[in-house]
Amino acid sequence: MRKIAVLTSGGDSPGMNACIRATVRRALNRGLSAIGVRKGFDGLIDGDFIELESQNVSNIIQRGGTILHSARSERFLTPEGRSAAAANLRNDNIDGLVVIGGDGSFRGADRLSEEHGIAVVGVPATIDNDIWGTDLTIGFCTAVNTALEAIDKVRDTAAAHDRLFIVEVMGRSAGFIALEVGVGSGAEAVLIPETPTDLDAIVRKVRKRISMGRSSNILVVAEGDEAGNAFEIAAKIEKISGLKSRVTVLGHVQRGGSPESIDRVLASKLGWAAVDALVDGAGSCMVGEINGEIVIHPLSDAWTKKKKLDPLLLVLSETR
Ligand code: ADP
Repeated sequence: MRKIAVLTSGGDSPGMNACIRATVRRALNRGLSAIGVRKGFDGLIDGDFIELESQNVSNIIQRGGTILHSARSERFLTPEGRSAAAANLRNDNIDGLVVIGGDGSFRGADRLSEEHGIAVVGVPATIDNDIWGTDLTIGFCTAVNTALEAIDKVRDTAAAHDRLFIVEVMGRSAGFIALEVGVGSGAEAVLIPETPTDLDAIVRKVRKRISMGRSSNILVVAEGDEAGNAFEIAAKIEKISGLKSRVTVLGHVQRGGSPESIDRVLASKLGWAAVDALVDGAGSCMVGEINGEIVIHPLSDAWTKKKKLDPLLLVLSETR
């Protein structure tokens, strides 16, 4: 192996830059050339490649977003798109590819590997933490802290005005962010896609608290909850009980910002491990960290196996 490429794909997450940096530096360190692919899989199809030297990745470890840009690529969903991508890699004599992204990006990478025999290593980077095979994904902790900071501020207002607030956090179809943030912020209830949502029970709880004089109430809702989005839930609660609420949707602020130390360090370790996996011939795989150890799994495990929520956090979120 002489030359590898790296790209970031799907939703961006804080720490992607730290991972690009580690991947490039480890590649150079092992005597390889490193190519950056801009704009995810679209860049692979368009041959949007740039050679990366050590200095190209200096002073980025602390920056959110991704210097390589990210994209969702419709074209890569087609066999023709993936053939064009593989041809570009071959024409540029690229022997292996590091894909930094979420499970969607891993699916695409796995197809590229299966159909065209390209060696691919996936590095789990998504704020949602919904990838099996690693305790944490790159960006999750930073996103949780961003959301926590915002909810602490909402709590001040909720307390000042004796109000019920419904705060929606990201997570797509997973409740990892909501559960972590709900417990961390002392929310009165956490509504997540993985568990049934009983709005009547939540209303009873809020009413009880109000009767005890504890009139600031916060419900944290994951965006994929079965009861609907935060606005729909607010309307349903008002219909059931007459309780009025204010809605805050945190949205994309959770994606940006400077990565926390835990995400920088995880990204650095996994970028390093991804290059080693490629050079050592691990084949199509993903790298992760479990209990402090670097682990390597088949790429398909990332979506065929389902990561579980922490059962203790589930209990904590229900018993406050
Ligand atoms: P994430 O990687 O954050 O989960 P997406 O689910 O949007 O983000 O996936 C990123 C990109 O990966 C998609 O835009 C598409 O190009 C590619 N991709 C996702 N699923 C597949 C698939 N089943 N086959 C081929 N490519 C895929």
